[in-house]
Amino acid sequence: MSDHYLEFTHSAFGRQLAALMGLPAPPRLRRATGGYDDQPLATRAVLVGGSEQAQMAEAMLGALSGMGADLYLAPDHCGLAPVKAAAASRGEALKGEPLGERFSPHALVFDASGIDSVPALRSLYEFLQPRIARLPAHGRVLLLSRAPSSLSEVGPHTASMALRGFIRSLAKEIGRKGSTANLVEVATGGEPAVAGALRFLLTEHAAFITGQTLGIGVPDAVPTHWGQSLFGRRALVTGAARGIGAAIAQTLAREGAQVIGVDRPQEEGALGESMSRVGGRGLALDVTAADAAERIVSECGPLDVVVHNAGVTRDKMLRNMAPHLWDTVLDINLGAIIRINERLLADGLAEGARMVCISSIGGIAGNAGQTNYATTKAGVIGYAEALAPEMARRGGAINAVAPGFIETAMTAAMPVMPREIGRRLSALAQGGLPADIAEAVTFLASGLSAGINGQTLRVCGQNFVGA
Ligand code: NAP
Repeated sequence: MSDHYLEFTHSAFGRQLAALMGLPAPPRLRRATGGYDDQPLATRAVLVGGSEQAQMAEAMLGALSGMGADLYLAPDHCGLAPVKAAAASRGEALKGEPLGERFSPHALVFDASGIDSVPALRSLYEFLQPRIARLPAHGRVLLLSRAPSSLSEVGPHTASMALRGFIRSLAKEIGRKGSTANLVEVATGGEPAVAGALRFLLTEHAAFITGQTLGIGVPDAVPTHWGQSLFGRRALVTGAARGIGAAIAQTLAREGAQVIGVDRPQEEGALGESMSRVGGRGLALDVTAADAAERIVSECGPLDVVVHNAGVTRDKMLRNMAPHLWDTVLDINLGAIIRINERLLADGLAEGARMVCISSIGGIAGNAGQTNYATTKAGVIGYAEALAPEMARRGGAINAVAPGFIETAMTAAMPVMPREIGRRLSALAQGGLPADIAEAVTFLASGLSAGINGQTLRVCGQNFVGA
C-alpha cells in the first residue's frame, strides 16, 4: 500500500502546505538499488574521530578504507593521537578536515571505546556537536564502543550505557532528513567483524534502521569478498508468496542464494509467481502441518540459510479472544518455528548455517488486542537468544529481526487512524517497505554479519513504540 501523505508532501503544493501548517514532511529514503558492492563508499567522504583512549581505531580505519571511503580526520580532538597512530600502523594517509568551507561528509564515524567517565563523554559532544548540522540528507552517524555487559568497572560500564541514550536521541534529531545514527558494540576480539557491520549500516542497505545498538562478538571467520556472498547457498524462506517473505526471497537471490519458498497450499499460485521472479523453487506447505518439518528436510536438502517469516495476526482484546485465535497465532508464529528447527538441527542444516526469525516491535512494546501475537514475537526473541550458543557451536548463527510498521497487506488491513499513527510516529516519519526487512535479513544471512549471534535487530525507522 502506498503512503499517500508522503507522496503529497513531495509535490510542490503539498510541500508548501505542510510547511505552512507545521506538518511533518517525511523524507523519501534513499534505498539500495543493487547488491553488495565491494567499494560501497567509493568517492564518498567520511570524517573519523575517536576518544582519548580509543581502542578500535585500526579496525574502524580498515573497514572504511576497505569500503573505498575518502577518509578525513577531525583536527585537534582528543582522539587525534590514537587515530593517527592507527593510521600510521596501517600505512594510511588521512586528510585533515577542510576548514573554513562547507565540508559535508556522508558519514561521521567515531570510536567511542575507552570512554570511562562523565568528563570523557565530552569527547563525543566535541566531535559531533559542531558538525551535525552539516550532515547531508541521507547521511550516517556511527559510534563504535564496547558493550556495557563486558565492562565490569563502574565508570566504563556507565559511560558505555550512556552512549545508547545519546544515539537514540540523536537518531530522532536527524531522522527528518532521512539520516540515521546507530551504535555498534564490539567484544574484545570482535574487531575483524566491524567491516561487515559498517558495510551494512553506512550504506543504503540500512535506510530504515536508526537509533539501534548492534552487538558484535568474536567471529569464527570474516569474508574475503562481499558481492554475491550467498552464491550457491540454499535458502529456505517461509511465507514467501507475498509481502515481506517475497521481498526476502528477492534480496537473498540478489546475493546469489538458491531460494526455496514455502507458503500455504492456498497460496500456491502466488508462491509460484514469487519464486519465478527469483529463479527459485516453491514448496506448498502449511508450516503447522504434522509433516512440515519432515517434508522440508527431505525435499530441500541441507540448508545454508533458514528464514522463519510466515506469521499471522488474529487481534482481539484478551477478554474477547476465542481459544482458536490464541492457538492459531501461537502455533504458526512460534510453535512451528521450534518444531521445524528441532528437525533441521538433527540433520537438515549445512555446516555454518544461519537462521533468521521474524519478530515484531509488537513483541517488544506490546499492543492492546495483541496478547497472542506479542507473546509469540517476544518468544521469538528469547528463542534466538537461547539457540545462539548451539548455532555458534555449528559455526553458524541465529538472529531475529523486529520490523516496525511495514507497508504490506497485513498493515493495509489496519483501521485508518492506527495505520497513520503507526507510520508517522517514528524518527523517519514513515512506514518501511518489505525491502527494508529483506535487507536486514540478508545481512544476517550473509558473512557481513560475522560475529552477530542471538541478537534482535529492530528495523522500524526508530518507531516510538517501545523505542
Ligand atoms: P503477509 O503479507 O500476511 O504475508 C505472510 C505470508 O505468510 C502469507 O503469504 C501467508 O499466507 C503466509 N503464511 C501464513 N500462515 C502460514 C502457514 N501456516 N504456513 C505457511 N505460510 C503461512 O505478512 P507480512 O506483513 O509480509 O509479514 C511477514 C512477517 O513479518 C510476519 O511474521 C509478521 O508477523 C512480521 N511483521 C510484519 C509487520 C508489518 O508491518 N507488516 C510488522 C512486524 C512484523 P496466507 O496469506 O495464506 O495466510
